[in-house]
Amino acid sequence: MQTRLFTEKKLVVATHNQGKLREIRALLVGQQIDVLSAGDLGLDEPEENENSFKGNARLKARTASKASGFVALADDSGLVVDALGGAPGIYSARWAGPDKDFSVAMRKIENKFSKMASPDRRAHFICSLSLAWPDNFDVTVEGRVDGQLVWPPRGNRGFGYDPIFVPNGYNLTFGEMEPDQKHAIGHRADAFSQLLHASFGK
Ligand code: IMP
Repeated sequence: MQTRLFTEKKLVVATHNQGKLREIRALLVGQQIDVLSAGDLGLDEPEENENSFKGNARLKARTASKASGFVALADDSGLVVDALGGAPGIYSARWAGPDKDFSVAMRKIENKFSKMASPDRRAHFICSLSLAWPDNFDVTVEGRVDGQLVWPPRGNRGFGYDPIFVPNGYNLTFGEMEPDQKHAIGHRADAFSQLLHASFGK
């Protein structure tokens, strides 16, 4: 993996999603970095037309970095279900439809399982983080957490597919867990620790 240390004072977080922005700000606490959001700078979000999590994260980070002149950080994430050939994968948000209704997306997965004799319920979440510089250089990593899908959905603490995902070694779904516990073992924390190691000397 190519790497470069982040030595600047300002960083643009290339997301318009307030939840992601909050989580990323929290993970950067103590780094003495002035964090700006794409929303603050009035930057547009590009269409996510790459075919991998890393590709989409890199595309979003590079676009924001070029447009702003600052180093930019972007995230792309989703749920990968083994028995569905990796779906919904990079289309995880789109499976929830225009109303972003994740009960619809979760039901879609269960409907597909219900047509299988003994479905393999293994799945994992992926989070790719990309840090891009205005000269087009980027450091891009991918974090992962493995688990099993359960039905019916349980818990309302998380978001997206959290209520049907039980991480390996636990009995609670991500939707039932304390947010701190989910964040400590999740795919985003895994990606962050890789990025801190690669570009922040941690
Ligand atoms: P993105 O904004 O294209 O990265 O969309 C990622 C989608 O994947 C989200 O809308 C969620 O549905 C799903 N996803 C990503 N991370 C998580 C998670 O931690 N819990 C539940 N769903 C997630």
